[in-house]
Amino acid sequence: MKKLFTLILIVFVICNSCKQADSDWIDRTKHEGLHNITLSDNFETYATEAQPNNLEITINNLELAKSYFDKIFDEDLNFAVLFVDNQNWDKYAFSPPPGMPQAHHDGNIVLGLNKSVMANGFEQTLSQIPPQAMQELKKYYGEPINLDKFFRDGLALHELGHLYQFYRTGKNSQRNWLNELFGNLCQVAAAKSFEDQSTFNQMDSFQNLLIRSNQWGNLKYKTLDEFETNYFDVMKEDRNYGWYQTQFYTMAKELFSKFGDSIVTKFREFLIKCNTDTYGNIDDNKLNELIQESFGKEVLNILKWQHSDS
Ligand SMILES: [Zn+2]
Repeated sequence: MKKLFTLILIVFVICNSCKQADSDWIDRTKHEGLHNITLSDNFETYATEAQPNNLEITINNLELAKSYFDKIFDEDLNFAVLFVDNQNWDKYAFSPPPGMPQAHHDGNIVLGLNKSVMANGFEQTLSQIPPQAMQELKKYYGEPINLDKFFRDGLALHELGHLYQFYRTGKNSQRNWLNELFGNLCQVAAAKSFEDQSTFNQMDSFQNLLIRSNQWGNLKYKTLDEFETNYFDVMKEDRNYGWYQTQFYTMAKELFSKFGDSIVTKFREFLIKCNTDTYGNIDDNKLNELIQESFGKEVLNILKWQHSDS
């Protein structure tokens, strides 16, 4: 009898803790010192300023993306978005540069409140781009060109995609490159799902400009192995990280154009299934085997890395 009681108690405690993790996974200790700006009914919003301006497009994009992701992933995810100014960046975000969007494993996204350092840096170089490319950017960005429309409004979708992943996988993932490819897939799929295609056109024209202008200089890292083993180092090298992201973006676009929403859902299931928690650390051969098993040969071919020097 005593044993049965203990068992019931254990089951009760486990169920209770599951429920707790489901309904509230957001780490709110990160919100200390921030203003609760309540800009959305669908998720939580905080900022270093009490009444920030110009966040309508970002909030609208996140609301539309949430409704799209909730539908395809069958979730009703609660999360918090922290709008942080550049001066306070290091206090709330885990990596530089200030204003560069990021997702935490604990239910928080951090976005820039004022112009991000990255947008600023790229805007300075716009005077050097060919007139035709400039014309295309103006078509989608208007004038003056504000690259936060890409770095904040566009990449917010990418970061939200990561949250839908982390919510089910926790911290341990099989490969950083799979996470980043998934982030790009979510970014493309969500933007494509919007009735208004401005966000997609903005992200696509800027990524295409980066790819075509090929101004990467000497890249220290180029292989997928290097991306895995030097991940934090690559992140610190803005250009190198940007180059990797354009490769993932190109793959994501191809995957989405061939398979649509179903690849996004399947990819997330794959990340959950392959998590190191349940699968342990697997080598590349085993990983390729699993990719082929789950998605088929065509996807495996799209994922083949073109820049291996090993
Ligand atoms: Zn990412």
